[in-house]
Amino acid sequence: MDKEIEKIKVLIIGSGPAGYTAAIYASRAGLSPIMYTGVQPGGQLTITNDVENYPGYPEGVMGPQMMEDFRKQAERFGTDVRYGVVTDIDAGQRPFKITVDEVKTLLADTVIISTGASAKWLGIESETRLNGKGVSACAVCDGFFFRGKDVAIVGGGDTACEEASSLANICNKVYMLVRRDELRASQIMKNPKIEILWNHETVEVLGDEEVSGAKVRDRITGEEKDLSVEAFFVAIGHQPNTAIFENQIDMDENGYILTQPGSTKTNVPGVFACGDAQDHEYRQAVTAAGTGCMAALDAERFLTSQE
Ligand code: NDP
Repeated sequence: MDKEIEKIKVLIIGSGPAGYTAAIYASRAGLSPIMYTGVQPGGQLTITNDVENYPGYPEGVMGPQMMEDFRKQAERFGTDVRYGVVTDIDAGQRPFKITVDEVKTLLADTVIISTGASAKWLGIESETRLNGKGVSACAVCDGFFFRGKDVAIVGGGDTACEEASSLANICNKVYMLVRRDELRASQIMKNPKIEILWNHETVEVLGDEEVSGAKVRDRITGEEKDLSVEAFFVAIGHQPNTAIFENQIDMDENGYILTQPGSTKTNVPGVFACGDAQDHEYRQAVTAAGTGCMAALDAERFLTSQE
């Protein structure tokens, strides 16, 4: 067991756009941040293909490449990027005691939480196999690639409704697969391009190299049919990766970290949260990066105020 205790000014937990942007700012401010990447270095963007909506990439960029660029930029200014998982935090007193990979202990004056969120999936084999080949959990990101086409979206919450509406603006037809006979969403869907299939579940996403359809089943009659679609969007909710902060940092009933409006401050002075771990509303790389910048500035100001 590693008994060495390292003392640092800024610990960044998580390596998506929020974490790397916090790292770039914190390292340029001379705070020598250490980042632990978590189990999925680079975060959600590493499981997407083209990113066309991030400013500064006029030709678009592959998600994994973009995260590689973020990492290089953070390392260029001295961020110590380490592959490891923060498994415990004692936010009860400063400096905060952090455990990494259950063995290593760190003492950090400030902590930036950028652990992100994970999309929920249906859990069927074809969904995993065709992920990034027409299967996507982000219609805002990937709908554009299917303009003029027929597509399907699963879910009946506010996200699914909003995404179905925005897909209807660019696609030819949108099938919305709702597993019950009512929506969870507050809004009513009225768009001639959207056909809601009530009480329907997905049996299989069809296609070899890319999505060519979806086999769906009526849960009442048991009847199955194939929908001819070129994209299959899953919008059944997200899970913020915040379990280790439970009972330490205030969060909402869904596990999103609560931050003070207009800042990244949590209820614990010295702990800041950015990106999707605290945002169930926008969930974009660029908004995550923006809050990552805010978190680094908030941490810097906090450290200055403590001197
Ligand atoms: P929700 O949890 O609200 O909705 C999830 C939807 O997916 C439900 O219709 C649920 O069905 C369905 N679902 C869950 N699991 C499955 C499954 N395995 N197969 C098929 N369907 C499934 O998630 P959202 O992402 O929509 O919203 C999260 C939160 O964010 C909510 O509080 C929402 O109001 C909020 N939000 C607000 C927005 C706004 O105000 N502009 C925009 C987007 C989100 P069932 O109902 O049967 O459980």
